[in-house]
Amino acid sequence: MSTEDAEVDAVVVGAGFSGLYMLVRLRELGLRAVVVERGDDVGGTWYWNRYPGARCDIESLDYCYSFSPDLLREWVWSERYATQPEILRYLNHVADRFDLRRDIRFSTRVEAARFDEQNSTWTVSMSDGTSLRARFCVMAVGNLSEPKRPDIPGFTSFAGETYHTALWPREGVDFTGKRVGVIGTGSSGIQAIPRIAEQAEALFVFQRTPNYSMPARNTPLEPGYVADVVAGYEGRRRMARESDAGVPFPAAQQATFEVSDEERERRYEEGWARGGINSLSYAFNDFFTDEEANQAAQEFARRKISEIVRDPETAASLSPAHHIGTKRTCVDTDYFQTYNRDNVTLVDLRKQPIEAITEGGIRTRDRDYSLDCLVFAVGFDAMTGALRAIDITGCGGRTLTEAWEEGPRTYLGLAVAGFPNMFLVTGPGSPGVLSNMVVSIEQHVDWIADCLRHLQEHGLDRIEATEAGQDAWVAYVNGLADATLYPEAASWYVGANIPGKPRVFMPYVNGCGNYRRECDEVARNDYQGFTLTTADRVGTSA
Ligand code: FAD
Ligand code: NAP
Repeated sequence: MSTEDAEVDAVVVGAGFSGLYMLVRLRELGLRAVVVERGDDVGGTWYWNRYPGARCDIESLDYCYSFSPDLLREWVWSERYATQPEILRYLNHVADRFDLRRDIRFSTRVEAARFDEQNSTWTVSMSDGTSLRARFCVMAVGNLSEPKRPDIPGFTSFAGETYHTALWPREGVDFTGKRVGVIGTGSSGIQAIPRIAEQAEALFVFQRTPNYSMPARNTPLEPGYVADVVAGYEGRRRMARESDAGVPFPAAQQATFEVSDEERERRYEEGWARGGINSLSYAFNDFFTDEEANQAAQEFARRKISEIVRDPETAASLSPAHHIGTKRTCVDTDYFQTYNRDNVTLVDLRKQPIEAITEGGIRTRDRDYSLDCLVFAVGFDAMTGALRAIDITGCGGRTLTEAWEEGPRTYLGLAVAGFPNMFLVTGPGSPGVLSNMVVSIEQHVDWIADCLRHLQEHGLDRIEATEAGQDAWVAYVNGLADATLYPEAASWYVGANIPGKPRVFMPYVNGCGNYRRECDEVARNDYQGFTLTTADRVGTSA
């Protein structure tokens, strides 16, 4: 039961990178906006994921906002890849510096959002029993914000301590003297495992699918170096915006087999020595599209694993077989080296699957592992999970869950037909998750803000993606993906990590730069593919 029905111009759900910047832009437009956040503070990803070893995998100097030159100058990143506490401090600084907190409702979950067709407004209902009415609703809920519940029999019977990397206790965890089990070897597990191994008496890593991981080559940043980068930042960021992955590195011009074997090896080695997520993917331009080219990079990565890991059987178990890059490539500090420690054991679940979690630990087909603590690094219901967790009802009483029964359908990853005045930030159908997400977030938020300005200037108050525009976009995005190796992997990009989730490849693969141009063109063409109206429905642009 609603105890309040306050009216604002816009409700933003989520106070991570997306929601904070959206609030800045909405205020600039003179709109009254409220951000609703279920956590008790800002930060989003960086508020929740406090596991040991958590850092960005895009360089700090690029994984940050660019909208404020003053902010850029003030904040001095201390490491090439900032730790979670440093990124969280940064987002708190942003919230304070732009005085954002006064418009954020913390510790409040948005439970439902219903579109009223008569008034073209959204009613947003919250966990505290109140509701807000707003013309516009911006879903800044995150792509990786709905933690996956471990789907293992006996999960609740374990008597020891359990942790999920995405719900890590604020006060931290001391594993000293403990027998610890980690389930999951995606980016979260791969970052946490080396740090937990340094503390635990014994660490057992339960691995179902091995992953590729590139060395981070993390290093402190000299303040002088940071100042130099910031001085030339506009060019650096422009390059990132126009690139495929939102990073300021030139795209490779040559294909893998256009060069000699020696030259190919030299480029891979150069990438490996430089480190970072694009160590191998930026060496040649056919990495994601040509099976043999991808195979060559895979072989290089597997050889590196076998050179680092001393035990050949463990090295073989750690060697991935999928096309490299088709699951998010991990970035690590000493991940493979960790398996050379005496206190670390890799349990290959392809050889001995888990039968159950028991009171005392984990039972696999071959033996019982007795454990004091269990860490679930099992990931997220990615891209659609947080949206579907909200009961969203659009035109004609149709819910988003119904509209997306066979997988998400959007226009530009920004809007959904049948859900007027609702915007998604880096939604499915956009390149967000394949990129430096802050670059994509800024682009989306800017596009949404410019769109709202356009509506204001033209006396319009309702915008809706057309079914035809959305159908064409979905077909286009699918066609792009089908020309690459991406859809073949059982990744969270296709929803394969959640039992029963429709298998649809969700991101746009044609790069941030191309996508930005396409979004800008839509806006320039009077928001082609959208219908723009006033409350009494005039001024259509189909
Ligand atoms: P989020 O940061 O996820 O924020 C969404 C917020 O919405 C959350 O605080 C959540 O509590 C809130 N919310 C959701 N639903 C509701 C609701 N119903 N009611 C109220 N509040 C709600 N990307 C990169 O580009 N580079 C990286 O190095 C990188 N590292 C990452 C490391 C980890 C551990 C993870 C999990 C992700 C990482 N990502 C990275 C992706 C990262 O999610 C994005 O870069 C970025 O932080 C997303 O910001 P956001 O504001 O869109 O979403
Ligand atoms: P993830 O990539 O989905 O990895 C989850 C892991 O858990 C996988 O190894 C998966 O194995 C395993 N798993 C899930 N259910 C299991 C089960 N029932 N039994 C055994 N194993 C199970 O999740 P994540 O590691 O949290 O990363 C998600 C995304 O967040 C990343 O891809 C990245 O985009 C982002 N992220 C980035 C960083 C960073 O470096 N900055 C850090 C963390 C996260 P299968 O593969 O076999 O399913």
